[in-house]
Formats: sequence, structure tokens, C-alpha cells
Amino acid sequence: MTSKDGYSWTKAQGLRAGVPSIGVIEPPSNVKSTDTVYDVIVVGAGYCGLTAARDASLAGLKVLLLEARDRIGGRSWSSNIEGYPYEMGGTWVYWGQANVWREIARYGMQDELEISYDFSRGINKYLLSTPQGVQSFSHEEEDELMQSSLAKLVNVDGCYGRNVVPFPHSGVLSPEARKYDHMSVADRIAEIKNDLTPNERLCAEAFVLLCSGGTLETTSFYEFLHWWALSGYSYEGCIDYLVKYKFRGGQSSFAIRFFREALASGNLTYSFNSPVASVQHGDESVQITTRAGKTFRGTKMICAIPLNVLNDVKFDPPLATGRKAAATTGHVNQCVKVHAEISDRDLRSFTGISYPHNGLIYGFGDGTTPAGNTHVVAFGGQHNHFHPEENVDHTKAAFEGFAPMSIERLVFHNWSKDEFAKGAWFFPAPGLISTHLKDMRAREHNIVFACSDWALGWRSFIDGAIEEGTRAAITVRADFAGRSKL
Ligand code: FAD
Repeated sequence: MTSKDGYSWTKAQGLRAGVPSIGVIEPPSNVKSTDTVYDVIVVGAGYCGLTAARDASLAGLKVLLLEARDRIGGRSWSSNIEGYPYEMGGTWVYWGQANVWREIARYGMQDELEISYDFSRGINKYLLSTPQGVQSFSHEEEDELMQSSLAKLVNVDGCYGRNVVPFPHSGVLSPEARKYDHMSVADRIAEIKNDLTPNERLCAEAFVLLCSGGTLETTSFYEFLHWWALSGYSYEGCIDYLVKYKFRGGQSSFAIRFFREALASGNLTYSFNSPVASVQHGDESVQITTRAGKTFRGTKMICAIPLNVLNDVKFDPPLATGRKAAATTGHVNQCVKVHAEISDRDLRSFTGISYPHNGLIYGFGDGTTPAGNTHVVAFGGQHNHFHPEENVDHTKAAFEGFAPMSIERLVFHNWSKDEFAKGAWFFPAPGLISTHLKDMRAREHNIVFACSDWALGWRSFIDGAIEEGTRAAITVRADFAGRSKL
């Protein structure tokens, strides 16, 4: 099945909107009647909504899942092009992420992972490209450079952030942590700039921008410390947790298991292509109306839609002031993630930074396609932001910013223009977490708000989405247990 989402480009076919994915659900709806009153209506079929819908339906609750798109997975989905899964959004997982790993074990997918990197051949180098020229390093030298630059960046307490973020899965920020949340990474770089070599500064800045998809000025320094803490306070940990292990069959091969298990419970009704326009809610019930004018009723709602689009749904009574303010501020991540299939087999082992001049900042060999070509993935963000579909030549030139390459195919999803995301993974500007984390997590009447964007642990990751979906289902089940329904 082909989703409306995503783009591909080849010389022969030009630019095409929509790519095939096993995450597209057919038939798109199994709703029989709009008279049913559901126990819980889950809005959003990303990992958070899928987890919540599955857990609630397995617990015996009558669940309706409403999703705006034609597919599951939200910001994590894979396209299958000529037998090869290109990851359009969320990709890498790690066994140190407890919620993700619980689900991988549940579905027996432990042996379905592969390693993105292959440092065995060709241009087995780290290429640091700047307007002044290209420097070339071994991957061992790359690790040393990255480790020394990030260590200087995070070492605010003499123990590499361990004192500032001692419990990375806690939502409680110490006064020290709050101080760093009100500081941007640009502020922190200004503090340490005399301690950094030019290459260290380049590497630290490019790595931070890879993580935030924002600019140095709009990136909360605390949130970067939080990622660092979650990754075991080391650069090696960052690589293991953030960019190493992915599903051989793509993310949609994982997400579909959640959906199928929920469906098999016999308690799941669903409707895709159903953007929600408005929600009326009170102490006893919720009434949800889609843009097409269909109305559904439920006792509870789990709202699993992202922060940057929350204000696009009309709530009556309106959202609480703090939540509304958080959604108005939004997060800053406008990551541009693009895949290229290239005929240069020698580039399978390269990694590279192209900064500060280029639109794509960070890239590396990510796989070998069935045709034997190299698959390169690259990331940009708000820094030199561009829309890859608007000018394919510009997009190809951004890849050439790492090294000359013969591009056969491009594949991507433009998350900035996506009306149901308005951005990529959550990354906050200074102040958002210390001011609004509690507001984003609070429930309102019969609505539980759940999303990776305000998870406590792996906030902004697939793991955080599953953490939140689990919390939402437990909350709703507890409500029903109080009424002795369960
Ligand atoms: P979403 O996946 O956004 O789900 C929300 C759902 O709500 C969507 O399906 C959306 O269509 C739907 N929705 C929105 N508005 C409405 C409406 N009005 N009516 C009905 N439905 C609506 N994480 C990792 O762990 N590893 C990675 O390598 C990684 N890389 C990433 C790369 C990119 C480019 C992106 C974009 C994300 C990446 N992430 C990664 C983050 C991860 O994908 C997300 O944090 C996670 O998927 C979010 O899940 P969620 O269910 O909380 O939200």
C-alpha cells in the first residue's frame, strides 16, 4: 500500500509524493456505527497512541482509535522501496531503552536488528567539511575528537553532568538543572570557547544541532545534558543509544505488531484518514468531531497528538492555560532527514560533518540497497533550513557537501510541512521544560494527554512514546477500576 506521506525522487521518475509502506492500514476503518459510546477514544496512532490503544483494549475496554493519516506510526515509519526500508522518521533503538526493549522482547524481535555502520571498506573515514576545505580522519580519531569536544561541553560540574542530571528518568529538576534549562547551547559555547580547539567547536556544535534540529540559540542546554545523561554520560553511549541499531524490516514492521495485537483483542475499533477537529469534554464524557463532521462519543479520551499541533484542535472547554502556552511556544526541531541511494560503493563506510555552511550537517553510510548501491542518510535542521522537495538540485548539492557522490534516488518526509507534526522529534528551547513539563503532563477532566514530547525518560524518542502510552492506559484503567468496570 502507498501512503500519501513522504517523497521519492529518481532521474527516471522525477519527484513523486507518497511512498509505499507496510504501515498503511487497509481497510482504513472498521467503524460500524457512530452510536457506540466507547470506554476510551485514543486520538493519534503513533507509538504512544498504539501502546495506549493496545493496552486498554487488552484490558477489556472498548477502544476507538482515530488517526489523521492513512497509516500507523506517526513520526516513526518506514517506506519499502524495491524491497528496501528507508526510515522516514524515528529509526534507532537500543536495549538500554527499557520501554522499547520490553516491546521488542514481547514481539520476539531481538534478532531483527542490524547495525547502521559498516566500517570495513572504501572511504573508511570521517570527513570534516568546512568552507575552508575537507579534513579527513580515521574513525578512531573521530571518536577521540567527538569525546573530547562533548566532554568539555557537558562538564559543568566536574563530573560530566552527573551531578546536574543524576536521575535522567525523573521529572524533577534541581535549581541547578533549571539554571541550565534557561541557558542555550550558544550560551554554553560562549562560556567555554577558549577551551575548545576549532575542530572541537565544530564537532560539538554539529553534534548538538544533530540532536536538536534547532539552532544553537534555540537549543536548551539542559535538554542536551538530559540526552547525555540518558546515554550513560559518554559519547560512546550516545552512538549506541542514538544512531546504531535499527530494524532490518523498518520501523513499520515493529509498529504493526502493536496494531495487530490490539485488533486481535476484539475490542478495537479504528478509523484512519480521520483528523480530529474538535473535542467537547466534561466530567462524564467526551465528544469528538472529525474534520469530515463525524462525531464519536466516549467516556474517556487519550489525546496522543504532538505538542506542535495541539492548538490546531479546538477544545471546549479550552485547554488549560499552561498547556496552551506550551503548545503556542512549541518545540524547535525542524530536522531535515534525507536518504540518498548512491552508486558509489566506496562511501558505505564514511561518516561526516559538513558545517556551518551546508544544509545537511551530519551524514553517514546507513546500508546497502538490494541493487548493491550505498544508502547514505543525512540530517539538517533550522540551521540553513530547506525543504528537500522544493529544489531537488539543492538537496543533491547538500549531499555533495560531504563528498562527491552519484545520487540515484532520494527519499524523505518533510516534517516541517507535515500538518500533523509541524516538526520532527521534540526538542525544547530554553525554559520550556522547567516552565511547562508539569502542564504538558497534567490531565484535564476525562482527557489524559500522552505523547513522547513530554515523557520523563527518553522524551522525544520512541521509548518515550511507549512510556507515555503505557502511563495513559494505566491511568484510564485505574479510572474504570474505581468504577468497578475492570
Ligand atoms: P507521533 O508519532 O507524532 O504520533 C501522533 C499521531 O497523532 C500521529 O500519527 C499524527 O498523525 C496524529 N495526529 C496529529 N494530529 C491529529 C489530529 N488532529 N487528529 C487525529 N490524529 C492526529 N526516536 C527514536 O527513538 N529513535 C530515532 O532514531 C528517532 N529519529 C527520529 C527522526 C525523525 C526525522 C523524527 C521525525 C523523529 C525521530 N524520533 C526518533 C522520534 C520519534 O519518532 C518520536 O518521538 C515518536 O515516534 C513520537 O511518538 P508519539 O506517538 O508520541 O507521537
